[in-house]
Amino acid sequence: MASVTFEHLTKTYPNGFISVNDVSLYIEDGEFVVFHGPSGCGKSTILRMIGGLEDITSGRIYLGKDLLNDILPRDRRLAMAFQNYMLYKHFNVYDNMALGLRLRDLPRTVIDSRIKSAAGFLGITDILGKKLKAISDAQRQKVALGRAIVCQPKVLLVDEDFARQDEDRRREMIEDILRINEELGITVLYVTNNYEETLSLHKRVVYMKDGRVISSAAFQREYNSEN
Ligand code: ADP
Repeated sequence: MASVTFEHLTKTYPNGFISVNDVSLYIEDGEFVVFHGPSGCGKSTILRMIGGLEDITSGRIYLGKDLLNDILPRDRRLAMAFQNYMLYKHFNVYDNMALGLRLRDLPRTVIDSRIKSAAGFLGITDILGKKLKAISDAQRQKVALGRAIVCQPKVLLVDEDFARQDEDRRREMIEDILRINEELGITVLYVTNNYEETLSLHKRVVYMKDGRVISSAAFQREYNSEN
């Protein structure tokens, strides 16, 4: 687990467009924070900078006390669940979940126990031996989350695109992510431009517009009355 701190975080693209503009924010260890705001306001850019998919133009990001700017993306102890989650259709569920752990040269017994416990947690134990092409999209989403949690990340980054599909599947995915936060204690940063969904989560909402944080408040009080 870890807190996340942004200090004057800024992203300017080569064409001069400022996508994230001087954002400073503190996210507590174990918190679930919703980043909300109109399309194009910079939410995903923030996630991509944390995950190392995008360079930071200026400012700092800390994970706990560690300055992320200086840490290679693969060493950041983060997991990302974006729409383009790379699952391998010709691998079975078990091997998809094992991939990141094998790259880290963990002992086979450790890998096995982590996969079994994550599969139990997500309710996919019975499909561990199935090829990805033989399971449903809803199950694939769970596999992607399983692959994220077996790495025991401190922070889980979720882009709403991940569960854009139908309403039931989206709700099920959100339930899983809420459980990952509550039961595993993993800090979650969740990006959405869906207002209904933001309301339904009952979590702290960071509302962004034009690259800036307009408000950051516990949902029930300030955010609700402002909108
Ligand atoms: P959100 O997630 O809030 O919808 P994004 O973070 O994806 O928004 O994008 C923020 C803004 O940055 C958008 O206006 C987008 O067009 C712009 N943007 C994204 N990538 C680039 C790029 N490579 N060059 C210039 N502008 C970009």
